[in-house]
Amino acid sequence: METVPRDTTDAKAVAPKELCHFIGGRKVAGTSGRFGDVCNPTLGIVTAREPFATKAETEAAIADAAEAFPKWAATSPLVRARVMFRFKQLIEEHMDEIVHLVSSEHGKVASDARGSIQRGLEVVEFACGIGHLLKGEFSNNVSNGIDMYSLRQPVGVCAGITPFNFPAMVPLWMLAVAVACGNTFVLKPSERDPGCSLRLAELLLEAGAPPGVLNVVLGDREAVDTLLTDPRVAAVSFVGSTPVARHVYATASAHGKRVQAMAGAKNHMIVLPDADMDQAADALMGAAYGSAGERCMAISVVLPVGESTADALRERLVERIKTLKVGASDDAASEMGPLVTRDHLERVQGYVDVGVQEGAELVVDGRGKKPFGHDEGFFMGACLFDNVKPEMRIYQEEIFGPVLCMLRTESFDEALRLTDEHPYGNGVAIFTRDGDAARDFSTRVQAGMVGVNVPIPVPLAFYSFGGWKDSAFGDLNQHGPDGVRFYTRLKTVTQRWPTGIRKGAEFVMPTMK
Ligand code: NAD
Repeated sequence: METVPRDTTDAKAVAPKELCHFIGGRKVAGTSGRFGDVCNPTLGIVTAREPFATKAETEAAIADAAEAFPKWAATSPLVRARVMFRFKQLIEEHMDEIVHLVSSEHGKVASDARGSIQRGLEVVEFACGIGHLLKGEFSNNVSNGIDMYSLRQPVGVCAGITPFNFPAMVPLWMLAVAVACGNTFVLKPSERDPGCSLRLAELLLEAGAPPGVLNVVLGDREAVDTLLTDPRVAAVSFVGSTPVARHVYATASAHGKRVQAMAGAKNHMIVLPDADMDQAADALMGAAYGSAGERCMAISVVLPVGESTADALRERLVERIKTLKVGASDDAASEMGPLVTRDHLERVQGYVDVGVQEGAELVVDGRGKKPFGHDEGFFMGACLFDNVKPEMRIYQEEIFGPVLCMLRTESFDEALRLTDEHPYGNGVAIFTRDGDAARDFSTRVQAGMVGVNVPIPVPLAFYSFGGWKDSAFGDLNQHGPDGVRFYTRLKTVTQRWPTGIRKGAEFVMPTMK
């Protein structure tokens, strides 16, 4: 059974602590006088206040990163890899503490928090192989006495702007690859759960990364816009909602930066009549309600093909939702924890109201459901809508909570067409025993990540993660081969030595005769 790290202090009795930025290898108190609240969603209380950085404070972090860059870029990849190995070891040693940070600020149940950190840790493991990953190409004697080779060099100061829903994993997607490639980094985590980013920065310093290599600036739009426009920042990696991703992509590219901006989602799962219905229902429970639906790869729409498939699935889902254990994130028995903030809870419950007004059938209503003794926590139960129609807002828009929409279809082609017509294209899944249908689906579907009888097809660290359509802007995805490409610039060198040089000027375009 999952060991659950518990904080033994009575959180309700403790005054909120004030967090600091982490700049140049040390904690720096905020000076703006503007603050955001960090809450414990299980208890529904404010546990910390995070200062919002001013433009000048953000510029100070960029300056430290810029100063640290030349030396770090010139450090051997072997040495950078050793820092990553130590970083991996330190994260493992502090796993319980980081699990507690994720659970107590985000609300994920401990077992899920641990899994999400493990997926981030796997990106650190990938980055440990940086010596191999940075190897270039070499061609000997491409012309008389001429050799040609390519190399990948770090781009400079990189910025990362991360969402609330994976407070350890998403920062690790970015910073592990960026730093291993020889860049320095300024991270602006979500203002709702910044604790993991601050702890990871301390651990990377302890692992041997020099001060200034990783800086954490706490803040809101003022900090973000400074990172997007400052000429010293070479590349911006963003993960968050689609409207903000569009802003980040447009602003940072207009300022000449390389940008990758991963965005919102509405992931569809098609269930064909030949699928194992129990397997499909089990998969849907985890994919729709795990992490309270606050995952960019959560399944939020299920498209059963045929009425009998829909009825069979609905019956099984209703049965399973009845026994779903909603509870405190530090209770080992909980399967679904609270939502991240009161505002977000109200927004998600507001969408359920909208669905009812729009005429969808609310088969299971989780609004207002709280586990015993947690009246103040940001809890709701699982919700299931049936007979959802494509024009409804609950189908069109990302809800980002434990709300599953069932949209009945008559054929595989209709289900595929609906999936493709949806503006988002992050992950998709199909459940079937029919290999031909699965292969056809994987080939034709307009989405970046596809699961065949796998509901949440998140690529492993050595593959790259990214969606299509309104789910991602920019060309290169997160981690894996694309991550290395994003955080390096390609240089190609053509060289010859004096013995290979013929006398006299040449005025024609050189070709190999
Ligand atoms: P968000 O867009 O509100 O915030 C993301 C980051 O942007 C935060 O650091 C925030 O401080 C900053 N930000 C917010 N508003 C801003 C503004 N107006 N200008 C500049 N910066 C701003 O996202 P969130 O609510 O923290 O996270 C949930 C969203 O992230 C969902 O849409 C989810 O689908 C998406 N997400 C996508 C992926 C992916 O890989 N596609 C992964 C995780 C989460």
